[in-house]
Amino acid sequence: MSLEVYHTLHKTPVKGGFLYTKAGARGTQEPAYELLAGHLEPHGQTALDLNPGIGLVAHALRRQELTVQAIETSRASLRCLEASFGASVRVTRGLPWETEPHSADLVALVLPANRGTRYVELSLLGAARALRTGGRLWIAGSKDKGFEHYFKLAQEWLGYGVLVRREGAFRLAVLEKEKPAPDLPPVWQSFEWQFSGKTWHFYYLPGVFSGGHIDPGSAMLLRELPHDLGHVLDIGGGYGALSRPLVDRAQSLTLLEDDWASVLCAQRNLGEQATVLHSDVDSALTPGQTFATIVSNPPFHVGGLVVLETAAAFIEAAYARLERGGKFYLVANRFLPYEPLLEARFATVRTVAVNSHKVLMAHKLG
Ligand code: SAH
Repeated sequence: MSLEVYHTLHKTPVKGGFLYTKAGARGTQEPAYELLAGHLEPHGQTALDLNPGIGLVAHALRRQELTVQAIETSRASLRCLEASFGASVRVTRGLPWETEPHSADLVALVLPANRGTRYVELSLLGAARALRTGGRLWIAGSKDKGFEHYFKLAQEWLGYGVLVRREGAFRLAVLEKEKPAPDLPPVWQSFEWQFSGKTWHFYYLPGVFSGGHIDPGSAMLLRELPHDLGHVLDIGGGYGALSRPLVDRAQSLTLLEDDWASVLCAQRNLGEQATVLHSDVDSALTPGQTFATIVSNPPFHVGGLVVLETAAAFIEAAYARLERGGKFYLVANRFLPYEPLLEARFATVRTVAVNSHKVLMAHKLG
């Protein structure tokens, strides 16, 4: 997929209108979104969507004439939300637990189960805190991804709840807030990693890739990099696992990351040592910006589905953003078929290491 195609917005028809969607954005053709959007009932005046994706549920809430705020972390999804709703929904970049207390009569949450238990629990806490007493929480998710556990927890924190619908493995429930919500626990965690004779300290938030340890693929990639890297770009940089150990080897570091929680982590871990940008692939770079070295451990799960389109866009962006003679280092699970994508662009593609993962190096000729 070309970068232009990757970044193109498409209109998808939904009940009573259309929404914009794009490659890399969540919330299309996902049963939990359909279930929630199709069956929620209005309550009060103000509604909050804590996992909007491209806005299927926010759109349904708007149709019920509620005042809607949508809080989203993904740059790709935010772009779709802004295009679809303009000023008719308050679209906010933020974390689902950083909600304004007692601000909503209704909260809608498609359980973000693929981001891990702690992230989902904090999202529920954000929902409980945002609701006014007597307000309602609608949740949708899969019984195979912990729905029962989260429903119980939500009942503990809010009060009475009923299961409204089941469709296959998917469940929809609504709860009423009957008691004060618990306080937010501390959300930051940290760990240390020994590499290259040094101890590196990393902070991370719930839901980020490989929190608490360095991904074995990322460690493998770091071991294969030469000493002098020039200006470095890290695409899909997460909390900075690749960039942070490279600070002494790079003339400059730029990290691009779609997920806002990960961006906050990278900013905390890298401080002044890097430029950290909230970016859907390379969307936050200026047109002519190029680099001598590009590194990446691309994603292959978006919303729980194995998709290669984002990784393919990373490869296209790496080619477009390398200066002549520059090198792109990529690490992936061994089964991922990235070689043909790289060979379609780069003159030389080499496998520089194979183990649990493979490290590939693609050279852009001078
Ligand atoms: N480099 C980090 C993270 C690798 S996981 C490490 O080695 O630990 C891949 C990262 O790509 C995730 O943090 C994910 O949020 C990010 N990502 C996913 N889609 C993206 C997109 N469209 N644009 C930029 N980053 C994206």
